[in-house]
Amino acid sequence: MLDSDLLSPIVSLLLSWFDRSQRVLPWRDSKDPYRIWVSEIMLQQTRVSAVIPYFHRFLEALPTVEALALAGDDRLNKLWEGLGYYSRVRNMKKAAIMVMEQYGGRFPSQPEELRKLPGIGEYTAGSVASIAFGKRVPCVDGNVLRVLARLLNSPLDVTAPAVKKQFTAAAAELVPADRPGDFNQSLMELGAIVCLPNGAPLCEQCPLRQLCRGRAAGTAPQLPVKAPKKARTVEERTVLLCVSPSGVLVTRRPEHGILAGLWEYPCLPGSIPPEDAAGQLRTWGLQPLSVEKAGNARHIFTHKEWHMTGYLARVSPSASLPEGLRWATVEELRSRYAVPGAYKFFTALLEKVFSAP
Ligand code: SF4
Repeated sequence: MLDSDLLSPIVSLLLSWFDRSQRVLPWRDSKDPYRIWVSEIMLQQTRVSAVIPYFHRFLEALPTVEALALAGDDRLNKLWEGLGYYSRVRNMKKAAIMVMEQYGGRFPSQPEELRKLPGIGEYTAGSVASIAFGKRVPCVDGNVLRVLARLLNSPLDVTAPAVKKQFTAAAAELVPADRPGDFNQSLMELGAIVCLPNGAPLCEQCPLRQLCRGRAAGTAPQLPVKAPKKARTVEERTVLLCVSPSGVLVTRRPEHGILAGLWEYPCLPGSIPPEDAAGQLRTWGLQPLSVEKAGNARHIFTHKEWHMTGYLARVSPSASLPEGLRWATVEELRSRYAVPGAYKFFTALLEKVFSAP
């Protein structure tokens, strides 16, 4: 069991610190569950500074849950382009449709009801329920686990579900009835700006330093204990940037799996030589005028890495293309087709190619 006697004094210390030191963030200026939910989903796996412009753009385009429920998939993907983990936005649309159809367009306030919505887990439900609706429930993310593990000088592996459950139960006891949302945000905020990860807590600025066992023991930088992650698998791919007066060739990814439903430049498995790339173009009925190396790029996903070899191929426009391939002008690439950040190296190169005189 965790030592909740040690933890109970942190509530008032954290709330006063939060009142003085919280960052001004655009989703903190209202209790609208839609805005809070959008921010929480965007903030999963993504830094605050990266999220802010996306948040403004998304809310401007889709200011209500109804607007989100009615939005087309390509428009949603375009609004999300570059944020990664696109299943998040697909689930948001499904959840918005459920809110419209089953809850009359109003978010449910109870965490158990919120958890029935696609893409909303225990953490997001706790966050929306406590911040928007004042429910006395915890929300425990990686920041909170790190702070609690350091405060308690805990040797437990926080990636183990049973340990996370213990920490969540300890956090639940702390949440005060009068300011549940502020308390949850204060704990997350402390982890985000003071009790920093990767061995770098700023203990001298911490309102909890007098109580912190990890600081006293000198172990805080090494905490929390986490089981080593599995090594990522590496996938070699060849990216064909086929350019003609009609634009650049694009294709839609399958509806399931990684980056589902997004647009990409045609890819082939493995790293192939230029003559094989030219041969592939001919099988699509394209006449390559030149095929040159366009550089290599890598993209790291959670469980795999793409190592990409790129070729820039100038081709004659063809009367017809095989099913699944189409031309996109550079303007359409910017405004219509959502090409994931995994290809940003190649997209930037295409911008240069198209803007060259
Ligand atoms: Fe984290 Fe240091 Fe504060 Fe302890 S004293 S909670 S290690 S920042």
